Amino acid sequence: MIKRTLVLAAAVSIFSMPVKAQNFGLERPLSTVEVPEVSPAAPDLSSLSAEYAEFFSALNSYSNTAFMAPQGSPEAMQASAAGQYLRGRVEELGARIKALGGSVPSVPATRGASFSWRVSSELNDVFGFGGPAGRSAAPGVEIRAGYCRINFVKEGVPFLVQSDRFLKKGEVIITFDDGPGPLTEEVSAAMKANNAPSVFFVLGSKLNAAGKARVKAEAADGNFPGVHGYWHATENGKPLTAYSTAKILDQLGGVSDSIKSATGAKPVFFRPPYGIITPDALKALSSDLGLVPVGWTIDTLDWSTKDPEALFEKTVSMIKQRGKGIILMHDIHPQSRTAAKRLAAWLAENGYKVVSPERLAEAYRGE
Ligand SMILES: [Zn+2]
Repeated sequence: MIKRTLVLAAAVSIFSMPVKAQNFGLERPLSTVEVPEVSPAAPDLSSLSAEYAEFFSALNSYSNTAFMAPQGSPEAMQASAAGQYLRGRVEELGARIKALGGSVPSVPATRGASFSWRVSSELNDVFGFGGPAGRSAAPGVEIRAGYCRINFVKEGVPFLVQSDRFLKKGEVIITFDDGPGPLTEEVSAAMKANNAPSVFFVLGSKLNAAGKARVKAEAADGNFPGVHGYWHATENGKPLTAYSTAKILDQLGGVSDSIKSATGAKPVFFRPPYGIITPDALKALSSDLGLVPVGWTIDTLDWSTKDPEALFEKTVSMIKQRGKGIILMHDIHPQSRTAAKRLAAWLAENGYKVVSPERLAEAYRGE
């Protein structure tokens, strides 16, 4: 990098002698033009710790917002999407700190929503949240009346909004996202043991030999592996709206094929990462790949806590309040694994019925 800078500096000095800056259309004399570094230097522990604290504070704040806002409201959907993304970033930063021999800083819980510029601009880049202020949301698009629709939040981000009108009181459907991982088989076996067939929305990037074995186990347990994405949803964590519909079809078609090669059956269900997808892409996935879209109506926000007891209690209170619903959890977090196992037993003991995910396909197809 130093060599490159010197070469550039030399080139600049040669040209700056005989010609004036304005000949190049530059606004400043060449001598003041900074030569950008080729790539940023590896961050040290203290800057990583500062970054961790910023992202952790924002994660806390979005968790609070997501819990306070009514389920399914634009505020809740945005906070949940941002929170899921931030949870991933916090974990990634924590791993980098540990890899450098440091320890993860303990960040005091804060109230209110003041984010660092770094966090705000990153979220804006990833999701487009914080876009044109005051723009009114475009009207939503009905995908299937009584089943699901796409709603646009005021920045124009399209969210899949699920209905559970087709469920009777006391009926629930359980779903897990972002696996398969090392905890998946335990969760899958617990669902089988409690007669609670569930959907596991998987990521194609996790379907190596071990991942395929886990997906195979899900299907053998009577669960339903579904398509979530290849990445979540791009390699950098951006939602599927970063891709063209053709690219989405190509990539998710590959995930569908990987699942089929593991289980012998084509997956039926699809859930967009963060619940974000355009109506066009959703319709194409349905017509070209035969995938039934699935959102959720009870977001457990299981990424927002590390405490399985608190997660279980909150989930139970949400289910009691709504009386039924499509429950969203993630089979990659230890707290979710523990809470989900308790939940499956609790539902059976408290008169709830975990209905087969096939009901989703029937409702979508109007059967
Ligand atoms: Zn996900």
